[in-house]
Amino acid sequence: MLYNTEAIVVRNIAYGESDAIVTLLTPSGRLAVLAKGAKKPQSRYAAGVQLCVQGVFTLYRRSGMGTLSQVEIVNARRHLREDLQRAAYAAYFCELATAVAEEAPHGSETLYRLLVRALDKLEAAAQPPLMARVWETKILRMAGASPDWTTCVRCGQPLGEGPAPVAYLPGEGGFVCRRCLIPGTAADTMWTVPAVVPRILKSFESVPWTKLGSVQLRPATHRTVRRILEVQLRDFAGLSPKSRAMLESIDAVFPSTEEEGPESDG
Ligand SMILES: [Zn+2]
Repeated sequence: MLYNTEAIVVRNIAYGESDAIVTLLTPSGRLAVLAKGAKKPQSRYAAGVQLCVQGVFTLYRRSGMGTLSQVEIVNARRHLREDLQRAAYAAYFCELATAVAEEAPHGSETLYRLLVRALDKLEAAAQPPLMARVWETKILRMAGASPDWTTCVRCGQPLGEGPAPVAYLPGEGGFVCRRCLIPGTAADTMWTVPAVVPRILKSFESVPWTKLGSVQLRPATHRTVRRILEVQLRDFAGLSPKSRAMLESIDAVFPSTEEEGPESDG
Protein backbone atom coordinates (compact mmCIF):
# COMPACT_ATOMS: atom_id res chain seq x y z
CA MET A 1 0.00 0.00 0.00
CA LEU A 2 1.33 3.44 -0.93
CA TYR A 3 0.41 6.44 1.16
CA ASN A 4 1.54 10.01 1.81
CA THR A 5 2.26 11.67 5.11
CA GLU A 6 3.55 15.04 6.15
CA ALA A 7 6.59 14.57 8.42
CA ILE A 8 9.88 15.83 9.80
CA VAL A 9 13.03 13.69 9.75
CA VAL A 10 14.01 13.30 13.40
CA ARG A 11 16.62 10.55 13.12
CA ASN A 12 18.68 9.05 10.35
CA ILE A 13 20.94 6.05 10.88
CA ALA A 14 23.01 4.19 8.30
CA TYR A 15 21.82 0.67 7.60
CA GLY A 16 24.11 -1.66 5.68
CA GLU A 17 26.34 -0.11 3.05
CA SER A 18 23.98 2.23 1.30
CA ASP A 19 20.61 2.27 3.06
CA ALA A 20 19.32 4.32 5.95
CA ILE A 21 16.66 3.85 8.58
CA VAL A 22 14.89 7.16 8.89
CA THR A 23 12.63 8.06 11.79
CA LEU A 24 9.86 10.45 10.85
CA LEU A 25 7.74 12.48 13.21
CA THR A 26 4.31 12.77 11.59
CA PRO A 27 1.16 14.50 12.88
CA SER A 28 0.01 11.07 14.06
CA GLY A 29 3.23 9.91 15.70
CA ARG A 30 6.67 8.41 15.16
CA LEU A 31 7.38 6.14 12.22
CA ALA A 32 10.59 4.36 11.13
CA VAL A 33 11.07 3.72 7.41
CA LEU A 34 13.77 2.16 5.28
CA ALA A 35 15.28 4.53 2.72
CA LYS A 36 16.96 2.26 0.19
CA GLY A 37 20.16 3.64 -1.27
CA ALA A 38 19.84 6.88 0.71
CA LYS A 39 23.53 6.84 1.64
CA LYS A 40 24.63 6.86 -1.99
CA PRO A 41 25.59 10.38 -3.05
CA GLN A 42 23.48 10.24 -6.20
CA SER A 43 20.42 8.96 -4.34
CA ARG A 44 17.21 10.82 -5.06
CA TYR A 45 16.43 10.57 -1.33
CA ALA A 46 19.74 11.92 -0.03
CA ALA A 47 18.49 15.51 0.37
CA GLY A 48 15.07 14.49 1.66
CA VAL A 49 16.20 12.30 4.55
CA GLN A 50 18.53 14.75 6.27
CA LEU A 51 17.78 15.66 9.86
CA CYS A 52 15.04 18.31 10.26
CA VAL A 53 13.84 18.19 6.66
CA GLN A 54 10.09 18.71 6.56
CA GLY A 55 8.17 17.32 3.65
CA VAL A 56 5.53 15.04 2.24
CA PHE A 57 6.81 11.48 2.35
CA THR A 58 5.38 8.75 0.17
CA LEU A 59 5.73 5.39 1.88
CA TYR A 60 5.15 1.86 0.77
CA ARG A 61 4.03 -0.54 3.44
CA ARG A 62 2.84 -4.10 3.31
CA SER A 63 3.83 -5.41 6.71
CA GLY A 64 6.55 -4.45 9.16
CA MET A 65 8.72 -1.44 8.44
CA GLY A 66 7.65 0.74 5.54
CA THR A 67 9.90 1.74 2.66
CA LEU A 68 10.40 5.27 1.47
CA SER A 69 9.20 5.75 -2.06
CA GLN A 70 9.40 9.52 -2.59
CA VAL A 71 10.03 12.78 -0.73
CA GLU A 72 8.64 16.15 -1.66
CA ILE A 73 10.61 18.64 0.42
CA VAL A 74 8.48 21.42 1.93
CA ASN A 75 11.19 22.98 4.09
CA ALA A 76 14.82 21.81 3.80
CA ARG A 77 15.93 23.85 6.85
CA ARG A 78 19.38 24.32 5.39
CA HIS A 79 20.36 26.92 8.01
CA LEU A 80 20.10 24.31 10.73
CA ARG A 81 22.80 22.22 9.08
CA GLU A 82 25.14 25.02 8.00
CA ASP A 83 25.77 26.33 11.51
CA LEU A 84 27.44 24.04 14.05
CA GLN A 85 25.61 25.44 17.07
CA ARG A 86 22.19 25.39 15.45
CA ALA A 87 22.81 21.89 14.09
CA ALA A 88 23.63 20.64 17.58
CA TYR A 89 20.51 22.25 19.05
CA ALA A 90 18.33 20.95 16.22
CA ALA A 91 19.62 17.42 16.84
CA TYR A 92 18.84 17.82 20.54
CA PHE A 93 15.31 19.08 19.84
CA CYS A 94 14.68 16.14 17.51
CA GLU A 95 16.08 13.60 19.96
CA LEU A 96 13.83 14.82 22.78
CA ALA A 97 10.78 14.86 20.52
CA THR A 98 11.54 11.33 19.30
CA ALA A 99 11.93 10.12 22.87
CA VAL A 100 8.46 11.24 23.95
CA ALA A 101 6.60 10.59 20.67
CA GLU A 102 4.20 7.66 20.52
CA GLU A 103 4.35 5.29 17.56
CA ALA A 104 2.03 6.27 14.70
CA PRO A 105 -0.95 6.35 14.59
CA HIS A 106 -1.16 6.87 18.34
CA GLY A 107 0.94 10.03 18.47
CA SER A 108 0.08 13.62 19.15
CA GLU A 109 -0.38 16.26 16.50
CA THR A 110 0.44 18.83 19.17
CA LEU A 111 3.99 17.48 19.47
CA TYR A 112 4.42 17.58 15.69
CA ARG A 113 3.19 21.19 15.44
CA LEU A 114 5.37 22.23 18.38
CA LEU A 115 8.46 20.74 16.72
CA VAL A 116 7.67 22.45 13.40
CA ARG A 117 7.47 25.80 15.15
CA ALA A 118 10.54 25.09 17.30
CA LEU A 119 12.69 24.31 14.26
CA ASP A 120 11.33 27.36 12.40
CA LYS A 121 12.26 29.52 15.35
CA LEU A 122 15.66 27.85 15.81
CA GLU A 123 16.56 28.73 12.22
CA ALA A 124 15.96 32.38 12.99
CA ALA A 125 16.58 32.66 16.72
CA ALA A 126 19.44 34.37 18.44
CA GLN A 127 19.05 32.39 21.65
CA PRO A 128 19.28 28.64 21.03
CA PRO A 129 20.17 27.88 24.70
CA LEU A 130 17.07 29.68 25.96
CA MET A 131 14.98 27.87 23.34
CA ALA A 132 16.40 24.58 24.58
CA ARG A 133 15.17 25.32 28.12
CA VAL A 134 11.71 26.12 26.78
CA TRP A 135 11.73 22.94 24.68
CA GLU A 136 12.80 20.83 27.68
CA THR A 137 9.97 22.30 29.75
CA LYS A 138 7.40 21.50 27.07
CA ILE A 139 8.80 17.99 26.55
CA LEU A 140 8.62 17.30 30.29
CA ARG A 141 5.00 18.37 30.30
CA MET A 142 4.23 16.05 27.38
CA ALA A 143 6.05 13.20 29.13
CA GLY A 144 4.01 13.82 32.29
CA ALA A 145 7.26 14.35 34.18
CA SER A 146 6.88 17.87 35.46
CA PRO A 147 5.14 18.99 38.62
CA ASP A 148 2.88 22.00 38.74
CA TRP A 149 5.94 24.19 39.14
CA THR A 150 4.30 26.87 41.25
CA THR A 151 2.78 24.64 43.91
CA CYS A 152 4.47 22.72 46.73
CA VAL A 153 5.13 19.05 45.82
CA ARG A 154 4.38 18.03 49.41
CA CYS A 155 1.23 19.91 50.43
CA GLY A 156 -0.06 21.17 47.07
CA GLN A 157 -0.36 24.77 48.28
CA PRO A 158 0.82 27.63 46.05
CA LEU A 159 4.44 28.64 46.66
CA GLY A 160 3.33 32.26 46.82
CA GLU A 161 4.44 35.38 45.05
CA GLY A 162 6.99 36.70 47.54
CA PRO A 163 10.63 37.50 46.76
CA ALA A 164 12.04 34.99 49.30
CA PRO A 165 14.08 32.15 47.76
CA VAL A 166 12.37 28.79 47.32
CA ALA A 167 13.67 25.24 47.61
CA TYR A 168 13.86 22.66 44.82
CA LEU A 169 14.08 19.02 45.90
CA PRO A 170 15.89 17.01 43.19
CA GLY A 171 14.81 13.77 44.87
CA GLU A 172 11.12 14.70 44.69
CA GLY A 173 11.10 16.57 41.39
CA GLY A 174 9.58 19.84 42.45
CA PHE A 175 9.57 22.82 44.76
CA VAL A 176 8.48 22.88 48.39
CA CYS A 177 6.93 25.67 50.38
CA ARG A 178 8.57 26.95 53.54
CA ARG A 179 6.01 25.26 55.80
CA CYS A 180 6.90 21.82 54.39
CA LEU A 181 10.65 22.31 54.40
CA ILE A 182 12.33 20.30 57.14
CA PRO A 183 14.95 22.45 58.87
CA GLY A 184 18.50 21.18 58.45
CA THR A 185 17.84 19.49 55.10
CA ALA A 186 21.23 18.78 53.49
CA ALA A 187 22.26 21.13 50.67
CA ASP A 188 22.57 18.32 48.12
CA THR A 189 18.97 17.22 48.64
CA MET A 190 17.62 20.77 48.59
CA TRP A 191 18.66 23.57 46.27
CA THR A 192 17.81 27.09 47.31
CA VAL A 193 16.85 29.01 44.19
CA PRO A 194 15.47 32.49 43.43
CA ALA A 195 11.70 32.81 43.78
CA VAL A 196 11.42 33.66 40.08
CA VAL A 197 12.59 30.18 38.97
CA PRO A 198 9.31 28.26 39.44
CA ARG A 199 7.43 31.09 37.74
CA ILE A 200 9.85 30.96 34.78
CA LEU A 201 9.36 27.20 34.44
CA LYS A 202 5.60 27.61 34.60
CA SER A 203 5.65 30.26 31.88
CA PHE A 204 7.96 28.18 29.65
CA GLU A 205 5.32 25.44 29.50
CA SER A 206 2.93 27.69 27.67
CA VAL A 207 5.01 30.49 26.10
CA PRO A 208 4.60 30.53 22.33
CA TRP A 209 7.84 30.69 20.34
CA THR A 210 6.76 34.04 18.90
CA LYS A 211 6.89 35.61 22.38
CA LEU A 212 10.31 34.24 23.22
CA GLY A 213 12.18 37.26 21.89
CA SER A 214 11.08 39.28 24.88
CA VAL A 215 12.38 36.77 27.44
CA GLN A 216 15.76 37.43 29.05
CA LEU A 217 17.33 35.40 31.84
CA ARG A 218 20.37 36.28 33.90
CA PRO A 219 23.16 33.75 33.23
CA ALA A 220 22.94 32.49 36.83
CA THR A 221 19.17 32.02 36.57
CA HIS A 222 19.63 30.20 33.28
CA ARG A 223 22.15 27.82 34.85
CA THR A 224 19.72 27.06 37.70
CA VAL A 225 16.82 26.45 35.30
CA ARG A 226 19.06 24.22 33.14
CA ARG A 227 20.18 22.18 36.16
CA ILE A 228 16.60 21.64 37.38
CA LEU A 229 15.38 20.64 33.93
CA GLU A 230 18.28 18.21 33.54
CA VAL A 231 17.28 16.47 36.79
CA GLN A 232 13.62 16.34 35.75
CA LEU A 233 14.48 14.93 32.31
CA ARG A 234 16.91 12.34 33.62
CA ASP A 235 15.26 11.22 36.85
CA PHE A 236 11.57 11.79 36.19
CA ALA A 237 11.23 11.35 32.42
CA GLY A 238 14.08 8.82 32.05
CA LEU A 239 15.71 10.90 29.31
CA SER A 240 19.48 11.30 28.95
CA PRO A 241 19.76 12.47 25.34
CA LYS A 242 23.09 11.64 23.70
CA SER A 243 23.04 14.92 21.79
CA ARG A 244 23.14 16.88 25.05
CA ALA A 245 26.88 16.29 25.55
CA MET A 246 27.48 17.89 22.15
CA LEU A 247 25.51 20.98 23.18
CA GLU A 248 27.52 21.36 26.32
CA SER A 249 30.85 21.19 24.50
CA ILE A 250 29.63 23.67 21.89
CA ASP A 251 28.42 26.11 24.53
CA ALA A 252 31.81 25.83 26.22
CA VAL A 253 33.58 26.70 22.96
CA PHE A 254 31.21 29.55 22.09
CA PRO A 255 30.52 31.25 25.41
CA SER A 256 28.57 33.92 23.54
CA THR A 257 25.78 31.39 23.21
CA GLU A 258 24.96 32.01 26.87
CA GLU A 259 22.57 34.91 26.71
CA GLU A 260 24.17 38.18 27.65
CA GLY A 261 21.06 40.25 27.82
CA PRO A 262 20.31 42.84 30.45
CA GLU A 263 20.27 41.72 34.03
CA SER A 264 16.60 40.90 34.11
CA ASP A 265 14.53 37.79 34.47
CA GLY A 266 11.43 39.32 32.93
ZN1 LIG B 1 4.05 22.65 51.28
